[in-house]
Amino acid sequence: MPDLSADRLRQAAPLAGYTTLRLGGPARLLVTATTADEVAQSVREARAGGEPALVLGGGSNVVIADRGFAGTAILIRSTGVRVVGRDGEAVTVRVEAGEPWDEVVTTAVHAGWSGLECLSGIPGTTGGTPIQNVAAYGQEVAETITAVRVFDRLTGELAWLPPARCRFGYRTSVFKRSDRWVVLAVEFRLRRHGWSGPVRYPELARALGVPLGATAPLAEVRAAVLALRAGKGMVLDPADPDTYSVGSFFTNPVLDRAAAAAVRRVAGAGPPTWPEPGGRVKVSAAWLIERAGFHKGYSGQGVAISSKHTLALTNRGNGTTAALLELAAEIRGGVRARFGVSLHPEPVLVDCTL
Ligand SMILES: Cc1cc2nc3c(=O)[nH]c(=O)nc-3n(C[C@H](O)[C@H](O)[C@H](O)COP(=O)(O)OP(=O)(O)OC[C@H]3O[C@@H](n4cnc5c(N)ncnc54)[C@H](O)[C@@H]3O)c2cc1C
Repeated sequence: MPDLSADRLRQAAPLAGYTTLRLGGPARLLVTATTADEVAQSVREARAGGEPALVLGGGSNVVIADRGFAGTAILIRSTGVRVVGRDGEAVTVRVEAGEPWDEVVTTAVHAGWSGLECLSGIPGTTGGTPIQNVAAYGQEVAETITAVRVFDRLTGELAWLPPARCRFGYRTSVFKRSDRWVVLAVEFRLRRHGWSGPVRYPELARALGVPLGATAPLAEVRAAVLALRAGKGMVLDPADPDTYSVGSFFTNPVLDRAAAAAVRRVAGAGPPTWPEPGGRVKVSAAWLIERAGFHKGYSGQGVAISSKHTLALTNRGNGTTAALLELAAEIRGGVRARFGVSLHPEPVLVDCTL
């Protein structure tokens, strides 16, 4: 009998190299899947062997335990971008899950397809975008996704899910923190326009020199977004540890009126807010963190708040997941103590907790 466990251990690989945080211990087995069939097959095989399976795209929204993942990690590397529909004003584009997201945005901008331009510079794979309904600068993928191709681990079947079944919300969907679905491909409907939709984000409108609600050429929007993001350490740069992060570590808390008023009373000033349904407001987590005493550059053991963005917790090159989570817990505790507000992590925590 071959010693399977020894064979698997030989294949153990630290997952740190597959994450933007550069943190995380080995998986018991690491599989690279380059087609949708291979993805589904790898998940089936892991299941048949009684192994938990971790689906990993670009590793830009995961925090993996230092001891690693006790199961099979499946790297999604299936590629392909295909126009599958076209009408008077739009194209429908089918993108395989492993296709690097920013390359898809580049393709769309060059082709004059409108709808993804504000999402320039976000790391990770296309299959990762529906998981938390990726969003930036007033645009989110839920606006353009028309269907998501999935492998259903519960039934072992393949299906196309329409947007209503994806239950997209603020940094969430039916897929986030769920072990049921593996995304194999995503379809987007993009307008053949050459110009962006109305610019909804004040900072972006200022950068473009247009009034809020105006439109701009796609290439100009992409360039402006990339410049804004780079200034915040939100575009990956191997030479800059401020980008060794998961982007924003905490989501902006959504508060009812009384809780928002309590924050204003404590701080003596109002935080930046955005209206939410039911009279609630989304409050800037970065503002709360700063007012609770945690400034840019605030550091722990080999980890620190980015020097460019209060919401990004970074590995300075010699950090550990334990130290990162310790820093996150300190920040969360400080904000709770000062404002009575609970912050929630945006990334998926793998075999570790906060
Ligand atoms: C510098 C930086 C800036 C960022 N800026 C933004 C931003 O502006 N807006 C934003 O929304 N996010 C942002 N992010 C977060 C992240 O890039 C996105 O959430 C991205 O879509 C994650 O994709 P990924 O392929 O890296 O997913 P991973 O990190 O590999 O996985 C994240 C989660 O999704 C699951 N998953 C991944 N692929 C699949 C699949 N095919 N099927 C099923 N489950 C899957 C994983 O199991 C895991 O639970 C940023 C991150 C960084 C590092």
